[in-house]
Amino acid sequence: MTHWGWYWGVKRQEGYKAKQLCSWFEVIDSFDIFNTRLMTSFLTYSTTRTLLEIPGLDLKMTLQEDNSLYVVYSGGNYNIPTERKACNFGGFYTFFHCPDCSKRMRKLYCLNGRYLCRKCANLSYKTQRLYPSRRLYHMQLQTEATLKAKGGSLYEKPPRMHRSTFQRIKRKHIDYEIKGEDASNRELREWYGSRANFLLGDNF
Ligand SMILES: [Zn+2]
Repeated sequence: MTHWGWYWGVKRQEGYKAKQLCSWFEVIDSFDIFNTRLMTSFLTYSTTRTLLEIPGLDLKMTLQEDNSLYVVYSGGNYNIPTERKACNFGGFYTFFHCPDCSKRMRKLYCLNGRYLCRKCANLSYKTQRLYPSRRLYHMQLQTEATLKAKGGSLYEKPPRMHRSTFQRIKRKHIDYEIKGEDASNRELREWYGSRANFLLGDNF
């Protein structure tokens, strides 16, 4: 987030092609499949049952004895290994291992029948395509949403949150606001050149 010069330098290079977005592809979430109580009981009793089907690709996904997923599709078959990670207060989380790089991942995206992690599939998030000013504004909203989700706001500390944490989030909010303003001024200058002085006034 900090190296805007480098970030936009890369994007301006000739031949740069924007990455495709995660949201365009079919996704499997290991938490959805394994960690929901309902699904767990369902999985325990029918390990041979098809978990997921995509008719266009002839894709069928089944659960194996060792909790890995077995995928058959028109281009062949492969295995998606899983890993159980213990939680601090009991229970466990299940994660996938990407079939290509075998890194531990929660979400895998379907590219022509192959489920891969975000990096192997070369995908990006929607926010990564935004202009810096918009992205910083998005992050600013995100800090507010975090506080709201915990039952507070920017003016009221959520219950059971440390005061230092609350201060840190508020500082972040201000920080993003300042950086966002700088970024939008920079963008105006780039787009309007010397005419931007009229828009921005003499202070900039
Ligand atoms: Zn991968």
